[in-house]
Amino acid sequence: MDSKQFRKAATSAIDEIANYYDTIADRRVLSEVEPGYLKKLLPSGPPQEGEAWADIQKDIETKIVPGLTHWQSPKFMAFFPASSSFPAMLADMYSAAFTAPAFNWICSPAVTELETVVMDWLVKLINLPDCYLSTTHGGGVIQGSASEAIVTVMVAARDKYLRETTAGLTGLELEDAIAHKRSRIVALGSEAAHSSTQKAAQICGVRYRSVSITKADNFAMTGANLEKVLEECKAQGLEPFYLTTTMGTTNTCAVDDFATITEVLSRHAPPNVAGEVWVHVDAAYAGAALVCLEYQHLTATFDQFHSFDFNMHKWLLTNFDASCLFVRKRKDLIEALSISPTYLRNEFSERGLVTDYRDWQIPLGRRFRSLKIWFVLRSYGVKGMQEHIRKHVKWGEDFAKMIDSRKDLFHIITGPNYALTVFNVVSKADCKNEQDRLTKDVYELVNKRGDIYITSTVVSGTYAIRVVSSNPLAEEKYIRRAFEILVEATEEVRDGKVA
Ligand code: PLP
Repeated sequence: MDSKQFRKAATSAIDEIANYYDTIADRRVLSEVEPGYLKKLLPSGPPQEGEAWADIQKDIETKIVPGLTHWQSPKFMAFFPASSSFPAMLADMYSAAFTAPAFNWICSPAVTELETVVMDWLVKLINLPDCYLSTTHGGGVIQGSASEAIVTVMVAARDKYLRETTAGLTGLELEDAIAHKRSRIVALGSEAAHSSTQKAAQICGVRYRSVSITKADNFAMTGANLEKVLEECKAQGLEPFYLTTTMGTTNTCAVDDFATITEVLSRHAPPNVAGEVWVHVDAAYAGAALVCLEYQHLTATFDQFHSFDFNMHKWLLTNFDASCLFVRKRKDLIEALSISPTYLRNEFSERGLVTDYRDWQIPLGRRFRSLKIWFVLRSYGVKGMQEHIRKHVKWGEDFAKMIDSRKDLFHIITGPNYALTVFNVVSKADCKNEQDRLTKDVYELVNKRGDIYITSTVVSGTYAIRVVSSNPLAEEKYIRRAFEILVEATEEVRDGKVA
């Protein structure tokens, strides 16, 4: 394809994408294909001769779109949203055009420098303490996902802990001490922390313990429950070195009690003392709400924590992937992840004049992801982003009120929290097993019909439905319709009238 053909092909692709967005609400949100559908539609190998763009493009609508679940549909109310916006799509086009695995500053200075600028903008936008700014000892780096961010900081935390607690030892004595400590160190998260913390512990080869949560505490981790686990670890000769706290847990969007957690840690593993526990804030979804002043008090203790991550690709209008990780001390990342083989050396890095983001992440190469954050911040502005969050929060409240207005059918388990409502179906006999069965049947019926897409979960042993009103294309009428669909399905299931 030459540039003339590209111009024509790109114009028609953009037309098709714009049409897709214009008609997305009319499409069934959940794909109905059977597993293996695509293999049957495609040839068994690539064509010998290159094909015309028009022939390739035709297959998008006929072969690919039927197998898509339309995450951008306003009827998609499942999981957490995966944002998209036209400015971010434009940025991804430029990023693809300028393709470079820009691991070092010299590989493409603009890629590194724009990232530093937008990450500092974000620190100010979401009210992180100044210690996370690149102009102090901290800084931000874009990762592919919140899970990747957790593995990255856990590696840094592990190495920092081992380094600090074996300081002064050398030679074999040092090797033995590190080997012993490696077998004793523990990563912690709450029962509601995303599974990526446990997975990161698996990858890092360290133990994992979880802190219990209760309905009485709104499913959030508290200092008191953390303290119990710290004491248990101590009694077993284990050494906690890392903790994931969450702002907006996956199941219920609970926010951990940062103040009591800080207080407990200050007694058990005082901050800034060798052997302190690295505290990471996983705000993958709800962190986006920090663009609004009314949530910014939540960052009050973050100057005592070590890292914070949120996904702009979840709730802040930016296409996947844009997970924004901030650390208080960039040297902790660099000391754990820096490598300098001769082929990566250059005078700018050697003289310490520049940032090389390869030392802040696990992979070497990286895409030009800051471009889409820059386009989004400039296209929407602070006010646009605040409006985006506030309208979704308001629709979450409206939806929860509707659910609450039918106490004969539904019971709200928690929420609305950050546009997420978690509820179950009540049974006439007030029997838990029956409620679980009804809730599951309603959930399955609604998704089978495919007018909206929702997810289910189990909260403290109770089967529940989650409805999220923060899709980028959400509208009040679709939220209202979701409520009607749920009422219809529940009445049918309860009365045994499912067709
Ligand atoms: N943390 C929380 C609180 C989440 O809800 C999720 C996913 O929904 C993740 C982490 C994992 O996100 P990612 O897919 O970016 O790894």
